[in-house]
Amino acid sequence: MPEEVRLAMAADMIHHRKAAFREVMTEVRAGLGELFGTSMPVLPLGASGTGAMVAAVCALFAPGEKVLVVEGGVFGERWTQICRTHKIVPLPIRVKWGEAVSVEDVETALDKDAEIRGVLTQHSETSTGALHPVRELAALTRRRNVLSVVDGISAVSVVPCPMDAWGIDCLLTGSQKGLMLPPGLSFIALSERAWEKAERVPPGNYYFNLLKEREASGNAQTNFTSPVSLILGLRESLRLLLSFGLDNIYRKQWALAQMARTGISALGLELFARDAFAWGLTSVLLPDGMDAARLLAVAAERCGVVMAAGQGGTFKSRIVRIGHMGYVDYADLAAGLHAFVRSFEACGGYLGCRNYLEQALDAYWRALDEGVPETMKIQPRSVL
Ligand SMILES: *Cc1c(COP(=O)(O)O)cnc(C)c1O
Repeated sequence: MPEEVRLAMAADMIHHRKAAFREVMTEVRAGLGELFGTSMPVLPLGASGTGAMVAAVCALFAPGEKVLVVEGGVFGERWTQICRTHKIVPLPIRVKWGEAVSVEDVETALDKDAEIRGVLTQHSETSTGALHPVRELAALTRRRNVLSVVDGISAVSVVPCPMDAWGIDCLLTGSQKGLMLPPGLSFIALSERAWEKAERVPPGNYYFNLLKEREASGNAQTNFTSPVSLILGLRESLRLLLSFGLDNIYRKQWALAQMARTGISALGLELFARDAFAWGLTSVLLPDGMDAARLLAVAAERCGVVMAAGQGGTFKSRIVRIGHMGYVDYADLAAGLHAFVRSFEACGGYLGCRNYLEQALDAYWRALDEGVPETMKIQPRSVL
């Protein structure tokens, strides 16, 4: 975390219903709107990212309603579990792990069942490193009486996702991924038509009541006691992100993804997400016989670099995920790639390539110079 953020969070407490705090919230509210690319209120919730997922499901759908769930990893499965818990009927579209959902498959599923009221997806499926086409999905749902709900945790502030311009009905994220904050906060915004729906759905959750949060947000407060220290940190992280410029952040994230992917490919290893990939993490498929847990333990002990294994299912021990979102730059990623290689070899693996770092750094600077390719490019600020 940036020093500015850490210091802001060390400040003394202020009262969450008084003027000093409302001033902070007013600034934060504007910054979050810019970050989400929306003119609608972005509501902070005192909860980890999953809290906002629960809030979305409970606010937008009544028990018995059907929703389509893009299931291409652990977080897709989480949507299904949340729906079941709250008696909303999930219809999973199973996607091969590491791949993006096919827009045609979603369209076919929607055509088949006119009772479907939502499409729930991740933007970046952090458990696999794949990136789902949320812009295209929103374009599909927009023409129907179907809400597009996007878990943007590990995507917002990492990869462009301008909510209003793309017609997304619900976008949410958490504090501890791209936002350079500790865990404990999540954020959620609804489109106009999503609010109309939320006004008709009976409150499905006492703590996560978005109608009440919207009202409190109008007074620059939160419905229940705000996590004041986190909000103070958030004000700093938003100041940093916006002063650097969202376009520049996305450009940096794109370049970091190119750097990681080039390094891993140069080593002769397989990238788990091949075509549509996240910009904030890179997942590596390990060769048979190499165990992720052992490799990670060596990297942490010998190099002081913390990486993650796969999540759930058969891939847990077969994948290493290198995180490079938020307060991370090319020097951190170079150290990470180096730690990966040292640990891989310490575990008995062999990697022939010796100039992988040079190739990776070349790819970084080239990508930074050239910027995000036209096909991926949008102007997030032009919508505001
Ligand atoms: C991290 C993450 C979550 C879970 O968030 P918590 O803060 O652990 O509740 C959900 N979805 C995605 C895509 C994530 O990356």
